[in-house]
Amino acid sequence: MVNDALIAARLRAYTGLTIFSEMTALAQAAGAVNLGQGFPDSDGPPEVLEAAREAIAQGLNQYPPATGLPVLRRAVAERRATDHGVAYDPDTEVVVTAGATEAIAAALLGLCEPGDEVVVFDPLYDSYGACLAMAGLRRVPVLLEHDGTRFTFDPDALRAAVGPRTRMILLNTPHNPTGKVFDADELALIAGLCIEHDLIAVTDEVYEYLVYDGLRHLPLAALPGMRERTLTISSAGKTFSTTGWKVGWACGPARLVTAVRTVKQYLTFASGTPFQAAVATGLTECMPWVENLRATLERRRDLLVTGLREAGITVLAGNATYFVQVDARSFGTDDGDALCRDLPASAGVAAIPSVALYDDKKAGRHLVRLAFCKDESLLATATARLAGRARATDPATALTRRD
Ligand SMILES: *Cc1c(COP(=O)(O)O)cnc(C)c1O
Repeated sequence: MVNDALIAARLRAYTGLTIFSEMTALAQAAGAVNLGQGFPDSDGPPEVLEAAREAIAQGLNQYPPATGLPVLRRAVAERRATDHGVAYDPDTEVVVTAGATEAIAAALLGLCEPGDEVVVFDPLYDSYGACLAMAGLRRVPVLLEHDGTRFTFDPDALRAAVGPRTRMILLNTPHNPTGKVFDADELALIAGLCIEHDLIAVTDEVYEYLVYDGLRHLPLAALPGMRERTLTISSAGKTFSTTGWKVGWACGPARLVTAVRTVKQYLTFASGTPFQAAVATGLTECMPWVENLRATLERRRDLLVTGLREAGITVLAGNATYFVQVDARSFGTDDGDALCRDLPASAGVAAIPSVALYDDKKAGRHLVRLAFCKDESLLATATARLAGRARATDPATALTRRD
């Protein structure tokens, strides 16, 4: 048991298990199909896996430089230049981290003073809230609302969120859990505010290659005037289906990257030498494999979305990531959290209540996140089970059945 009295006050709200662990435990107990936690159930590119084995066999098993293996920093810089047209010096403007998660934590700790405000889009990835709390920062949420077509935000709400204590805008695009890809106009607005108020932008782009429907991921750093004030964070986990390797990186001007390096060299110093080498191989040789993954995931999203919609379930699907959201009201309740606690046992499917990721609990109450980075037969099973569960709670059908 955790004794709350021993935990620093600023972290007391975070002592519980994460919602992902909680729902995975329920899934396991019920033998349910787990569409909760967002990890793929197939392996990454064989060349990347082999490169890790080779690196270990060749003795790449000691500390790498704190900033990461040069071969990986070069590969990261090359990808950013080739794919997004933003050039970074691999020696001074790229730092390798223990996943995107460490890069985000290090950016908040290294670039902000306690009491500073950070603007975030709501809902937000679960580590953001905890890291903001660890760093003693105040989060100022801007709600992403569904306008009937897609999630977007009120430009005035974003303008109003920026005040005299604002230090940073923390942006996740493509966005988890909505699947939103911030478009050029939205990014221009964010960039304009950063420049006008001299703010730092930190972007979490871990889904940069998992974008569908012919859309393209646009990095904020590529906008005029933004490279010099943007720290761009990404990771190998989602790109190469190696979420357990925790190899991430941050790119930006040296004055921002130095802050990340300063924190990370005392948090972990460094990690995963052979995995860093393998990810370098992935970034230089396996991008066709990533394109294939992207196309596969797009097809899986379509499979899930079509099946659920045919069953009359309201789906809010985005254009990227591993996730779509469904409306709990299709299952006869507006309480997504209660629905997710019930679904593993009642339907044999586990999901994540999106409200856990929302600052505005009212806005997220009815939403439930489903991961589609799963085997197609599992998705078909889950779709059929959710359809059955929705039918069983549909008053019209219930009436017909009683007749
Ligand atoms: C998965 C995920 C991360 C974590 O990335 P790691 O490289 O595993 O640390 C960060 N941000 C978002 C939005 C994610 O979905």
